[in-house]
Amino acid sequence: MEIVHIPVLLEEALEQLSIKEGEILVDCTIGEGGHSVEFLKKVGTKGFLIGIDLDSIVLEKCTERLSKVGTNFRLVHGNFKNVLGIVFELGFSKVDKIFADLGMSSFQLSKGDFGFSFRENGPLDMRMNKEMQFSAMDVINRFSENEIASILWECGEERFSRLIARKIVEAREIKQIETTFELASIVSKVYPLHHRKIHPATRTFQALRIYVNNELGNLSLMLDEVPEIIRIGGRIAIISYHSLEDRIVKNVFKKSPKFKILNKTVIKPKSGELKANRRARSAKMRVAERV
Ligand code: SAH
Repeated sequence: MEIVHIPVLLEEALEQLSIKEGEILVDCTIGEGGHSVEFLKKVGTKGFLIGIDLDSIVLEKCTERLSKVGTNFRLVHGNFKNVLGIVFELGFSKVDKIFADLGMSSFQLSKGDFGFSFRENGPLDMRMNKEMQFSAMDVINRFSENEIASILWECGEERFSRLIARKIVEAREIKQIETTFELASIVSKVYPLHHRKIHPATRTFQALRIYVNNELGNLSLMLDEVPEIIRIGGRIAIISYHSLEDRIVKNVFKKSPKFKILNKTVIKPKSGELKANRRARSAKMRVAERV
């Protein structure tokens, strides 16, 4: 089993969550278990770890990895928006700590068949869970020009959303757009030259992934539910990777009377981590206590 993903803000997450022996922790996005291997060590044999992920393949890898550390864990193939039901179903009414490391893993990015990356050629799919109703290919080939432009704007803050949407519609009239490279090439061709600090397709791909997987909706639903299951004095830490997610976390932590923000300024990776791990570039962690 090859581990591809390097966990982001691992030390900071351990410090902020301040996990004690015997505690119950939910990792809402367990992925390859980069964080949870350490969480499991901290809760010890008297504690318990619940891991959730939408991706069943990654769960197999994770089971193997965690089994080397302990047996007091359960992995659930599911969506963290249902975290309440998942925790209850496993027989717990309250937990001590909740953690989520949003987005996709390097493992998923590196596998072209998800279609997340404009650097890997693959089918334009983007569904983290193949049971989702529609894929990025459906959005790109069937949605109206206006709908595509709105998605690029609302889920990607792409300032050239209208121009890109128009070019997508023109291109699909000639031939259905089926691969990541086809889409990346359409976007790259129209993107104004002096606005290319990042790859021109970055925001388009981000927007499609967020939309197809309803990532912002899932996050809001999860944040709505979690105060019910975190014991008073328990903690929640969330790592996000773009401003849309971070804004949701920030607002909920600020406005909800059930949360007290623990970190006054947002926690970001130190320069050493930034150099060693590309994925850490845009990471931001916020931590709150259940009050
Ligand atoms: N912390 C992990 C990496 C997590 S990457 C590690 O260090 O190994 C993010 C993971 O979240 C991915 O595996 C992705 O499939 C999962 N994910 C994204 N949205 C989800 C959701 N709504 N519910 C459950 N899992 C989700």
